Amino acid sequence: MIDFRSDTVTQPTEGMRAAMAVAPVGDDVFGDDPTVNALEAKTAALLGKESAVFVPSGTQSNLIALMAHCQRGDEYIVGQLAHTYKYEAGGAAVLGSIQPQPIDMEPDGSLSLERVASVIKPDDSHFARTRLLCLENTHNGKVVPLEYLKAAGAFVDDRGLALHLDGARIWNAAVAMGVPPAAVAEPFDTVSVCLSKGLGAPVGSVLVGSTSLITEARRWRKMLGGGMRQAGIIAAGGIYALDHHIDRLADDHANAELLAKLLGNVAGVTVKGQNTNMVFVDFGVTDYPTFAATLRDQGIVALTGRSSSRLVTHLGVTSADVEHFVDVVSGMDVTS
Ligand SMILES: *Cc1c(COP(=O)(O)O)cnc(C)c1O
Repeated sequence: MIDFRSDTVTQPTEGMRAAMAVAPVGDDVFGDDPTVNALEAKTAALLGKESAVFVPSGTQSNLIALMAHCQRGDEYIVGQLAHTYKYEAGGAAVLGSIQPQPIDMEPDGSLSLERVASVIKPDDSHFARTRLLCLENTHNGKVVPLEYLKAAGAFVDDRGLALHLDGARIWNAAVAMGVPPAAVAEPFDTVSVCLSKGLGAPVGSVLVGSTSLITEARRWRKMLGGGMRQAGIIAAGGIYALDHHIDRLADDHANAELLAKLLGNVAGVTVKGQNTNMVFVDFGVTDYPTFAATLRDQGIVALTGRSSSRLVTHLGVTSADVEHFVDVVSGMDVTS
């Protein structure tokens, strides 16, 4: 199967499985797992932060970050379409007693700092205490540029807020900009990164930040049930991914570009955009269930629907797969 649904569908490579099989492990809740400790140290260093904590998912990583920054009755400012706000089941409000203040996002995935300023609450007992600004990079594959991130850093310093990055795909942003991941992370107090997306590890995210914030986040991780025991088995997959799968994200970006270019030549198909490893397409199809079933018969899975389909490239998709997919689509009368 060629799977364009998400970069979360990757399978661990043989090298990664071998590294996982021989990883030394211990009880990580006691701090005894040497592989988890090595992954945390390595991720913190890569992102230029003091400390790190390994967690089962990006959702938990963002949640423990928000809970480390904000107390009950505090507020965080976030984009309407941000993962932390829209796609994490409202965890900050439900489990953290943190009020989200969502605002409209700019087309480039950033938040207008003027708009952010307009929703910061004065120190008054009527209002929640505005504590944190949360950004996302990449957002829908869009790289939020360094200049903006620096401006956001200066802005929060000026306003006495903290700054968190949902950097599930920070690696794609860094590779696309040709800068080290630490440059993307620099303005932020905490950064959450995923190992289980384009990097191809089977499980896991890491939260990085100052030692005091990470100590606090570690306590929330335990409370939320994220304290894992011999987690070095999965952490080894993460270490392997950091060592071998960051630079190759450039291949995924090139394959997405190829996909956008080739689909652009197919009659009836409209390519709406391509950002890093994601392509947004209107296939101009009237019967999507039949379209999806026909693709499946040809060994292709994709999330297709109405006016916008998202196709994602990753380490399980080659340029030959991209060409095969476009051949299949070209051979179907998609608009009929
Ligand atoms: C995938 C993702 C996460 C975390 O997702 P999990 O499935 O919980 O690991 C967070 N933010 C963004 C932007 C994501 O794409």
